[in-house]
Amino acid sequence: MSNEEKVVKAEENEKKPGGSWLDKVKVILVEMVRVDSMPHDPRREYPATVAECIDDELKYKKGVYEAVKKFRDSNPWRGTKAEMQYKYALLNADLAKIYEIQEPKLVFVDRFPVGPCCFPNSVPAVIMMEATSDGRYSVVAFLHEFAHAIGRDEKGACKWSLNLFKRFFPKSYEKLEPRGHMLFRKTEKKDAA
Ligand SMILES: [Zn+2]
Repeated sequence: MSNEEKVVKAEENEKKPGGSWLDKVKVILVEMVRVDSMPHDPRREYPATVAECIDDELKYKKGVYEAVKKFRDSNPWRGTKAEMQYKYALLNADLAKIYEIQEPKLVFVDRFPVGPCCFPNSVPAVIMMEATSDGRYSVVAFLHEFAHAIGRDEKGACKWSLNLFKRFFPKSYEKLEPRGHMLFRKTEKKDAA
């Protein structure tokens, strides 16, 4: 599929039922009530540092490397919003196949009070992706939320996502600043990568 076709497809998706911003808000509200908890519950056990999550020996399921490599080579931080969202949708579908789960519903919003998050108890799981302040999306946040969709707790999700990110986006990883269990852009205090 050409890039133009991809954009057309993403724009068509936006027009479909469930694609408008109001439908997205409805999904969020229904999930919050249904699962009866806010994501990023402060009582959850987060690792204290990024460093303690890094494990260069950590093994991934067969196919994960290929899927993330394909995603990386698609330049996930480039293109229009629709193009970027489509790249995430492909990775989401590939990883869901590898982990034999129903494909998580990806919801992209410009602002969400708690940032990117996952409702893993929904069927299918719902992954909320909040745009960063420059209108792009955080790769490491998507990986973290996908890890919740396959049942990882906070420590497990941090390990799963941070190590994958470090291996496939080493330059970006080096450029980011660890604060607590998260990676931040050095120039911006607000956005996680
Ligand atoms: Zn988490």
